[in-house]
Amino acid sequence: MNLTEERVITEIRWHARAGQGAKTAAHILAQAALRDGKYAQSFPEFGPERRGAPVQAFNRISDQPFYMHSGVTTPDVVLIVDPRLMDTIPVTDGLKTGGWVIINTPLPPQEAQQRWELGLYKVATVDASTIARETLKQDIPNVPLLGAFARVTGLVTLESLQADTIQRLQKRFRDRPQVIEANLKALERGYQEVQWVEARTTGLPETHVVSSLRRWEELPVGGIIPEPATSVVYRTGSWRLERPIFDPQKCVQCLMCWLMCPDSAILLENGKVVGIDYEHCKGCGLCSLQCPPKAKALSMVLEAELESISASGTQSKGA
Ligand code: SF4
Ligand code: SF4
Repeated sequence: MNLTEERVITEIRWHARAGQGAKTAAHILAQAALRDGKYAQSFPEFGPERRGAPVQAFNRISDQPFYMHSGVTTPDVVLIVDPRLMDTIPVTDGLKTGGWVIINTPLPPQEAQQRWELGLYKVATVDASTIARETLKQDIPNVPLLGAFARVTGLVTLESLQADTIQRLQKRFRDRPQVIEANLKALERGYQEVQWVEARTTGLPETHVVSSLRRWEELPVGGIIPEPATSVVYRTGSWRLERPIFDPQKCVQCLMCWLMCPDSAILLENGKVVGIDYEHCKGCGLCSLQCPPKAKALSMVLEAELESISASGTQSKGA
């Protein structure tokens, strides 16, 4: 597995209660992605759970073939089918900074971002339950949520979701075209009515990251990595004493930090700096030194200081 391959896969995690259709929604999403010419997978983590129990389902979508089959622990997108889960389970565990949180709630995205302390993430909200009740006559919010997902991420097209919905329902509701119409309406309303807000991060530490990489202490004895280019599978960022904090508002995109970073830990998207790969940044500070003084978009902060702020609970999330 190489790093390039890892980075082109978008990982998605659904949080719902058994009976809310997360498994079906993940399946439809994968089918729609396949229809769009992508590679995709979907699978639930649960077995025959009792109705109402918290459950997860997963998707991976990519333009290239991939061979991962593990559960999603560091998603790019999380979809919350039941908003009450936000208060009971850590739905953002492992979510990448700047990733999407898409929530079924009547709250505007700014309010949701504030209420659930989601400043590190892009937040999209859609009142999927109301849409479902008005169109499908029952609270099955997964269909409008799929529409919302298509709109904000652009990872699948609405047309493919519609085509897959028709195909899936046609056999079962051959004599009831109104059911298919209602599902298409729910999908389209989710797509039209979703609202979203950007992440408010100004380089806040990634307090939610749960790493799946091995720590540097687990390097082979002698510290030798026999195969070339395998350091990406170790979490070398864990030996960092200082952390570069990136402020996107101040960045002038000169790319000097990216040029100088010895660990390729400056993250680019479409040729622009978007953040730091804390799994591999060792905290050398070169990026901060190179950042033009007029911009000052990168500053170094002691890890110990960040830990004590985090432990004392005085950190203003998303500030
Ligand atoms: S501190 Fe060093 S390793 Fe980390 S991003 Fe900056 S230049 Fe790269
Ligand atoms: S050096 Fe600073 S201003 Fe230049 S791209 Fe990096 S963060 Fe932005």
